[in-house]
Amino acid sequence: MKIKILGINFKIKKVCRGVLDKGATIGRMNSGSGEIFLRDNLPADIELSTVIHETIHILSVNLGLDLSEEQTTALEAGIMSVIMCKENAKILTELYYHARSVK
Ligand SMILES: [Zn+2]
Repeated sequence: MKIKILGINFKIKKVCRGVLDKGATIGRMNSGSGEIFLRDNLPADIELSTVIHETIHILSVNLGLDLSEEQTTALEAGIMSVIMCKENAKILTELYYHARSVK
C-alpha cells in the first residue's frame, strides 16, 4: 500500500509489534525514508485513524509545524470524528468529486 502526502509517496508497511518502537505501539513514520509502519491486524477504524495520525506527523515535519504528540492526537481524533460520521458521508463524497472535477 502507498499514500501520497504533499506530493511525496509513502509506503505503508504492516509490521508485527516487535518491529515498532516501544513508545509507538500501533504506528510510526519515517519521513526521510518515506515509510509509514502500521501494526498488523489492526481493526479497520484504528488502521485508518493511525494512517491519519502518521500523516499529521508527516505534515508537521514537512510544513515546519512542530506539533506535539498531544496536538497530533487531538487533530487525529477531530478529523476522524468528521470523516467517520455517517451524516457527513454524502457531503464529503459530493465535495470530493466536485473538487476533483474542477481541475
Ligand atoms: Zn504520534
